Amino acid sequence: MFAWRFLRTRVPLVRWGRTRSRKAAGMCQVGGVRGCSTAMERPSWELPQAAAMRVYYSDVYKVSLPAGHRFPMQKYLLVRQALESRAAMRDVVFTVSPFATVEDLALVHDREYIRRFLQGQLSEKENRRIGFPWSLAGVQRATASNGGTVAATHDVLRKRCRFAGQLAGGTHHAFPDHGEGYCVFCDIAVATRVALRDYGHVRRVLIIDLDVHQGNGTAAIFANDDRVFTCSFHGHGNYPFVKQKSDLDVEFEDGTEDAEYLEKLEFWLPALFSRVRPQLVFFQAGVDALRDDRLGRLNLSAEGLRARNRMVFDAVLNSSDAGCVICMGGGYSDPIDKTVASHAHVYLDAKAALSKHYAGQTAAAAARTFSAGEVPRVVPRERGYYS
Ligand SMILES: [Zn+2]
Repeated sequence: MFAWRFLRTRVPLVRWGRTRSRKAAGMCQVGGVRGCSTAMERPSWELPQAAAMRVYYSDVYKVSLPAGHRFPMQKYLLVRQALESRAAMRDVVFTVSPFATVEDLALVHDREYIRRFLQGQLSEKENRRIGFPWSLAGVQRATASNGGTVAATHDVLRKRCRFAGQLAGGTHHAFPDHGEGYCVFCDIAVATRVALRDYGHVRRVLIIDLDVHQGNGTAAIFANDDRVFTCSFHGHGNYPFVKQKSDLDVEFEDGTEDAEYLEKLEFWLPALFSRVRPQLVFFQAGVDALRDDRLGRLNLSAEGLRARNRMVFDAVLNSSDAGCVICMGGGYSDPIDKTVASHAHVYLDAKAALSKHYAGQTAAAAARTFSAGEVPRVVPRERGYYS
């Protein structure tokens, strides 16, 4: 029905190469429009909101896991602390994530599944599939993780900021009626459905999932929704071992290094933005493709991941008029320090891309303010804000 559904084919590894790349690029140019084409549909971003950034966190809900559990729950607080200590983030608003409402969750998930999870009535087998024993703190964490992504989405769609981050979320393995792979509810899917319900101008959403594991839940949820384009870059031989079909799946063999990964990303990003012309972008920015990761199986360097981040943020800023919601995704190095550093770099790179993109305009706005004789007002950092 929609021309851009042509990408709903997994690109076989053996067929990946220059021949296919040129062919695919040609197809994108036929129906797509290069560069920003949404300016006619919505007003452009205005300063200072355009250059602003907000970040949500839910590490205040402490979940204790059994001894020996391999999920690095401590990383969420460590990433926030790493970011709050950086001068580059001093004007970023950090906010405790609100809880998602049942009404919002039910846009994606079965009400009976939501109820049974909230009330601790999932079977032992269902909890094992999720990977966490059930607890009240776990309920708080899961609903806050989803609520933060929803709040971040409202922020960019209300034009409070062009980038909004969530220091959790990216729980892309959750399906409507069950959770798996450390994911209870699929936050990006919930926030996407909220955006489509609440904002009439949002008709095209792009989900860029660069976690090393396929976004199988997200792909399945939007399999028949032409308003949402799902794109997943992931390890071919890694979990989930039964893959779903995203609109674009790009797979990598174990041990893939920076050059190959970045070449493919550099090729596909312009094609995606040209074809989808998104009004809203989600970036699942998992860092488990890092070579030090215990579960990732790829061989990307920390600097390679930063180049990845910059490519995505530059594509959002230069190829669209969309706002971007950034979710944390996976990362499992042991010790956890390298994962924490790479997660933090995602948000630092987002802020740097915004600052660079709007640098000239910010300077011009400041010059106008000073020429009008106004004294810049110091705005205290907000906490606990949500509306
Ligand atoms: Zn992952």
